[in-house]
Amino acid sequence: MPAYPHLFRPLDLGFVTLPNRILMGSMHTGLEARPDGMARLAAFYAERAKGGAALIVTGGFSPNDAGELGLHRAQVSTKADAERHRVVPRAVHDAGGRIVLQLLHSGRYGFHKNIVAPSPVKSGINPNAPRELGDAEIERTIADFAASAALAREAGYDGIEVMGSEGYLLTQFLAVRANQRADRWGGSLENRMRLPVEVVRACRAASGEDFIIIYRISALELVEGGLAATEIAAVARAIEQAGATLLNTGIGWHEARIPTISQAVPRGGFAWATRNLKEAVKIPVIASNRINAPETAEEILARGDADMVSLARAFLADEAFAAKAQAGDRAGINICIACNQACLDHYFIGQPASCVVNPRAGRETKLVFTPVTKKKRVAVVGGGPAGLSCAAVAAERGHDVVLFEKSTQLGGQFNLAKIIPGKQEFSESIAYYGERLRRAGAKVHLGHAPDEAELGSFDEVVLATGIDPRKPAIPGIGHKNVASYVDVLSGRVLPGRDVVIIGAGGIGFDVAVWLLERNARATLDAGEFAKHWGIVRDKAVSGGLDPKGFPPAHPVHRITMLKRSATPFGATLGRTTGWVHRAELARNAVQMIKGVEYRRIDDAGVHITVDGKERVIPADTVVICAGQEPLRPLAARYMIGGAKEAGELDAKRAMLEGAELAAAL
Ligand code: NAP
Ligand code: SF4
Repeated sequence: MPAYPHLFRPLDLGFVTLPNRILMGSMHTGLEARPDGMARLAAFYAERAKGGAALIVTGGFSPNDAGELGLHRAQVSTKADAERHRVVPRAVHDAGGRIVLQLLHSGRYGFHKNIVAPSPVKSGINPNAPRELGDAEIERTIADFAASAALAREAGYDGIEVMGSEGYLLTQFLAVRANQRADRWGGSLENRMRLPVEVVRACRAASGEDFIIIYRISALELVEGGLAATEIAAVARAIEQAGATLLNTGIGWHEARIPTISQAVPRGGFAWATRNLKEAVKIPVIASNRINAPETAEEILARGDADMVSLARAFLADEAFAAKAQAGDRAGINICIACNQACLDHYFIGQPASCVVNPRAGRETKLVFTPVTKKKRVAVVGGGPAGLSCAAVAAERGHDVVLFEKSTQLGGQFNLAKIIPGKQEFSESIAYYGERLRRAGAKVHLGHAPDEAELGSFDEVVLATGIDPRKPAIPGIGHKNVASYVDVLSGRVLPGRDVVIIGAGGIGFDVAVWLLERNARATLDAGEFAKHWGIVRDKAVSGGLDPKGFPPAHPVHRITMLKRSATPFGATLGRTTGWVHRAELARNAVQMIKGVEYRRIDDAGVHITVDGKERVIPADTVVICAGQEPLRPLAARYMIGGAKEAGELDAKRAMLEGAELAAAL
């Protein structure tokens, strides 16, 4: 009996049969517009095809200038574009896979001056206002989509995906919040769906019957003035009629203020919305969002919520996700922890996408792990993210690796992170890297901190000893009410009712979330998540949003966060995840005071000066989250992670440094 029987049933599309039910969903890789982008994309997708994805969807390419997402051209609208793309489908086909080109028109989400939309209504997440499309321009846009579909075929792609979700142009036409037209493209639902339907019809006519056309529909809008589930079902039926082969789903507009892919979302937490569509159409329907483990995917298919599953970031974390799942090798899968740190957050700062837990992702042509020619004895001191990454790669390359960890478990800072509500996924990474070490034959010494004499017999010593929490020089820092974040998160100190947090970086925010939600969100559950964020399943409700808004919060602590700098709170958090933390804290009336000078800590609380005035913030517990200092108990030739640089301590850099060093040893 295979481990995941529903996942590995072939899917017959009429003119082609997919070998399994796993789609690698579209992601902005940040390579699309780079000069060397096509070669890097070809290598990136080929590895995922080899890793068993039945069908891959590229990142979004626009059918014309107005639809571009940013200032750099990522378009398929000319013969030259098709020619440039050839290498991508060829590489995927050579690896035994199939790939479709995503056609994405950004509409009012484009970050350039010439953006267009159904109506001149600005989106809350873009400073630029769009220009209203004229009737002839809409007709030309349909023709542009069709021309791109034909070019995709010419380039060798197996099909296209028409991006009709997440608030891009086609979604904008569907919803009254963005479409206020009174002509044949606005008003009634029939008029509002005319553009997406005509786009699919024209793409089908231009590309032929034996060409995959996926339409990515918004299964749940999560915005005011968004479609209700009954309207979405009507759109789905019309899209099916127009000639789509498959319906993929997206959840929420980008401007929705409800998390849709971050760690706050339970695994497979939106699959129920896909079921509405499956009941509406006969073509296969694909579930998406936070499907990162084979058992989650299998459950969705077994329940009948969908015919196929879309995993995007999961394929960044592990290019061979599908092949490993098929072999029943669950322990060998590097699970995406939904942090967004090296994938989506990179997109917003113009860097190519990679992955925190798999630094090779997006660096397939640059970070190559070759077998060693000269086997060395390598000691890695410290079993946190940096040490784990380094030891695993070094051992797999063929070195004789010993990893020393002074505590009794691997994982370092990941062991604290996994305690934060919503961050339970970190335990997956610890288990996975532990398994890699075991398979590669590395020796792991837990509960042991070696001295220099013991390390003398090794050819190479790598210091990955991590950090020590900083203890700021504030008078009264030794007061009985003061605790470090490590004491609080590990349960050594029980926080009182009034809590002051000193420091508001990633860890300060994490501690605040833990204080507020450690009991309510000990486990992630789709029903609880929906209740928490005011999501309703009533099919007649616009956007799937509870008109009453979020339910009231009942915070168990009165929390005040303090910091010295004057920058906005949360400015250092991830671009695509920080707002979720800020929203949680705002709901729970967490006070935030910036620009403070610390005077002292005593029985009354924390004495500060702010705007020239002295204040006392009462505190039963003061939690210090004031950053880190490097921990370097030994001298060593190589230092990685927090031991090298604590100021920018983060798992992304730690794991990359570990892998890069191990590739060169
Ligand atoms: P951090 O982001 O550097 O924040 C340290 C905080 O401590 C700052 O708010 C700083 O604020 C304050 N501080 C620094 N020196 C101080 C001193 N001498 N006295 C009093 N306050 C001081 O460090 P972190 O919060 O420990 O996080 C470490 C790293 O973990 C981050 O770089 C981040 O990448 C990662 N992380 C991220 C997340 C996330 O994004 N969700 C979560 C956890 C960890 P002022 O200088 O303004 O006082
Ligand atoms: Fe997943 Fe984080 Fe990797 Fe992105 S960076 S693919 S969210 S683990």
